[in-house]
Amino acid sequence: MRAATRAARGAGMRIGLVPTMGALHEGHLSLVRAARAVTGLVTASIFVNPTQFGPNEDLAKYPRSFHRDCELLQREGVELVFAPSTEEMYPAGAVTWVTVEELSNKLDGRSRPGHFRGVTTVVSKLFHIVEPDAAFFGQKDAAQVAIIRRMVRDLNLPVEIVVCPIVREPDGLAMSSRNAYLDPEGRKKALVLHRALTRVQQLVEQGEISAEKLRMAGRNEFAGAPSVRLDYFEIVNPDTLDPIQDISKGALAAVAAYVGGTRLIDNLLIQR
Ligand code: AMP
Repeated sequence: MRAATRAARGAGMRIGLVPTMGALHEGHLSLVRAARAVTGLVTASIFVNPTQFGPNEDLAKYPRSFHRDCELLQREGVELVFAPSTEEMYPAGAVTWVTVEELSNKLDGRSRPGHFRGVTTVVSKLFHIVEPDAAFFGQKDAAQVAIIRRMVRDLNLPVEIVVCPIVREPDGLAMSSRNAYLDPEGRKKALVLHRALTRVQQLVEQGEISAEKLRMAGRNEFAGAPSVRLDYFEIVNPDTLDPIQDISKGALAAVAAYVGGTRLIDNLLIQR
């Protein structure tokens, strides 16, 4: 992999990397297109990273569709797919981690201990293997974006981080590989995440700046969906992930909830 990307760089190309866990959908492909637009050699990685799953999470049943994924990537003009085995990424005795302290315990990190340590470790490894000039991530995983940006800054990694907007289904549900777990009823219930964020957006447009009021309004939407278990609905600083008092300098409204056994996340970036 490194030989291929080094050869391309030697030939004057900029290298783009799109890290994924496969089961690709339009959200992933939007990252590929963004990479295609600004880099000469586009690489995508497909790796269901075991270290970012908790012991009781969905690692074993995570959707896998490698051949279809490769077809989709080829159609988008991706030159290189990196799909290592778990043993290749984590040889016996691997005990070294990259951890972004503090941020990794917030939002999803609070409910999924160790999750972001797995993410930052695997993303560091991918950066060292591929040596991309730019790496493309989705705003869908807003906490991940903050944590990876901080890692790149703190460790002086020579990679430009490009963040692409959330791609949604026509009815507003954020695209996710995990949506495949939802039955038709769950699929309808899942819309409450987007409804809550839309309510927040409406209030912001009407001039509301109190984070507490926005938080309450977002959480309130879940009162009408008792079978959906809210994990968190927070209004935070998008860089530090800390709760804020008011949104006058911008904010991130972030939500996570369980629909049946499926954990879904969504968010709204409020720019000022
Ligand atoms: P995953 O395969 O779920 O690890 O996601 C790989 C990348 O695709 C991450 O940077 C995600 O944030 C991004 N992504 C996933 N879903 C979406 C979406 N609906 N819109 C934009 N980006 C997404």
